Amino acid sequence: ADPAWQRAVRTQFPIITAHPELAYLDSAATSQKPQAVLDAVLTYLTSSNANAGRGTYPWANRTTEAIARARDRVKEFLGDPEPERSAVHFTSGTTEGLRTVARDWLTEHLTDGDEILVPFADHRANLDPWLEARDLLAARGTEVHIRALPYQETSGDYDHRALRSVVGPRTRFVAATHVHHVYGGDMNVHRLRAAVGPEVPICLDAAQSVGHLPLRVGDPALDVDFVVFSGHKAFALPGTGAVWARNTRGPLLRPAGWQGTPNTAGLVSLLAALDWLDAVGVDRVSAHVASLAVRLTDRLRRLDAYEILGCPAGLAADSALPAAQRRHGIVTFRHREIPSDDLGFILFSHGFMVRADSHCQAGADEKDGSVRVSLHVYNTGEEIDRLLTVLASLG
Ligand code: PMP
Repeated sequence: ADPAWQRAVRTQFPIITAHPELAYLDSAATSQKPQAVLDAVLTYLTSSNANAGRGTYPWANRTTEAIARARDRVKEFLGDPEPERSAVHFTSGTTEGLRTVARDWLTEHLTDGDEILVPFADHRANLDPWLEARDLLAARGTEVHIRALPYQETSGDYDHRALRSVVGPRTRFVAATHVHHVYGGDMNVHRLRAAVGPEVPICLDAAQSVGHLPLRVGDPALDVDFVVFSGHKAFALPGTGAVWARNTRGPLLRPAGWQGTPNTAGLVSLLAALDWLDAVGVDRVSAHVASLAVRLTDRLRRLDAYEILGCPAGLAADSALPAAQRRHGIVTFRHREIPSDDLGFILFSHGFMVRADSHCQAGADEKDGSVRVSLHVYNTGEEIDRLLTVLASLG
């Protein structure tokens, strides 16, 4: 049975309680929103909605303050030990965040002959911006070289042994992912740091880890320079996200002057979402979600009709493994005969909302389609059991 705290948390999601016949299993795409976040947005919009900036009246000032609080809150949430030396830049999500780092920071810090390491089998959002930065630099007459982070197909992790062969004296930057959006595994970023040494900036796509794992930038095991995430995957409104940047690497360059109207209601929702997450406890969320992933994987691997992607035979879901090696709320699989999009429709006919396609994974094409079940704090063991019953009936 799910713990009592989890059942109480689940009731805080109006969209979930309104649809007991449905099971939302697509949180890696976006999360549902708790009442506290909805309340914060409604209160803001009905009490002090205005534009931010040099206001001469209270609503505008309150909006400006809310944005400043959201910025401080992101630093605090990420355990930033030196908030006065870091920057937070708000974006619409991880895609825009990574593009901002590529365009506004990376292109200003590379010179002819430099090399950057980027992932070729993670989310496309963590590949295209780096290729674009290279092209932008090439157009300016600066040639930089892209190297692929070596990848281990069988485990869904970077190939940390092969890493040393692609790191060289001209390696100037690494883009990596914290938790893979298809395989759900922790990509062991500390090993990247060990391979590249202390001087090379690492940019972390944390789209699937913020809200799922305690992510503390002060932790020596997570020595990264940029953390990019989507607020909307962590209980805030759509159109929210942030880049956290260590200023010791040089500030994120911002377009000078006029910057337009920020997503004020979205930032209010982000502030409320981070408060809410801290109150619930990311540790508890992480443990609950991991236990559901273990339950699903352990039984799915016994159904011959299915192939689980990433870790062989669901190994990484083994509860005996240390937390860092477990799946974090994402289990992706294929039926050996039923095409994945058909399986998606069949599952929805039983009330399950899953993602069924190639998941925006770089390098994957249509034939690589699969079904992704992604979980969050509101999901229950009962939903997993019901899903397994349907999957077993298709075996
Ligand atoms: N990176 C990863 C690992 C993701 O899972 C996602 C969302 N699926 C993104 C980037 C893009 O996030 P967004 O749509 O919020 O820009």
